[in-house]
Amino acid sequence: MHSESDMMKAIVKYNKGDSFTELREVTRPVIDSEEVLIEVKAAGICGTDIHIIHDEFKYSAPVTMGHEFSGEIVEVGEKVKEWKVGERVVSEPHTGACRVCRLCRTGNPQICSKKRPIGSGTDGAFAEYVKVPSWLLHRIPEEVSFEEAALTEPVAICVHCILEKTGIEAGDFIAILGPGPIGLLAAQVVKSAGASCVLISGISRDVNIRLKLASELGIDYVINTDEEDLVSKVRQLTNDTGADVVVEASGSPLAINQAFQMVRRGGRISALGMTKEEKVEIPWNMGIMKGIEITLPFSSGYTSWEKALDLIASKKINVASLMSQHFSLEAWLRAFALVEKGQAIKALLIP
Ligand SMILES: [Zn+2]
Ligand SMILES: [Zn+2]
Repeated sequence: MHSESDMMKAIVKYNKGDSFTELREVTRPVIDSEEVLIEVKAAGICGTDIHIIHDEFKYSAPVTMGHEFSGEIVEVGEKVKEWKVGERVVSEPHTGACRVCRLCRTGNPQICSKKRPIGSGTDGAFAEYVKVPSWLLHRIPEEVSFEEAALTEPVAICVHCILEKTGIEAGDFIAILGPGPIGLLAAQVVKSAGASCVLISGISRDVNIRLKLASELGIDYVINTDEEDLVSKVRQLTNDTGADVVVEASGSPLAINQAFQMVRRGGRISALGMTKEEKVEIPWNMGIMKGIEITLPFSSGYTSWEKALDLIASKKINVASLMSQHFSLEAWLRAFALVEKGQAIKALLIP
């Protein structure tokens, strides 16, 4: 039997299939000698969470959802020497990564085959407490709030995929397809890296909230593709050359194809979004003839987390502007619905 104090509230995807998600009383995680227990202070709802609910992303049920979070350490395992109770932390989601394979030892635990990511493969942060192995932690700088820190993961994805893998050069013209949280963060990340001109595109349903924020953030060109032809617009803005880099953050097969058309010869396509489709047709020969480089990186790694925290702390990236609403765990259904309809940019759960 568990005493009342061993229990906590958590949002659990308890069965395979569409929906089957509820707020439950579950037992509080018990840490091993190399783990820490974290009291969750803020957790962001991600597109991935919506995919999990609809059975469109890999997960193991039952699982407590949530992988974008910040919190305070309340307990440390006996072998953990470098962390103390009371420290403010964020955690990379690569739980389960083996730490001994070639990928782990070369700094790529995010693509380790043993990884069982927090919030889908192992219990996550839409709960009062979450446990993680201490090697995945990063300290939150003093000037960064728990709410802002909860967005470290999506910023780290932008840093890893665009800056570390694709590469940005000062003066680049960058087209970002898709104005979701990742697209809006990507636009700020490439600006911080010296891009001279940034365009972001969305559709009519994005105009009132996401594209409006894009304009407020000072993104150079904000395009509604239901009203303007995106490929011609990019050609026109680049003297018919094309974009140096196209960042695909929409997951739309149409946009993925347009990326090939709007990137310049010798340009680069950076994939940031998964697509719901199992396969997407791409103009392979056009890609070769234009000499395009495509990067298909996944997730984020240690260096991108450190850089993301620096960018947030130095205010080079305004993460607060994306945090439209805060919800209690009890109000999770309403929060998820707003995110799914595109009426919230980043909704935070505050357990
Ligand atoms: Zn996420
Ligand atoms: Zn490994």
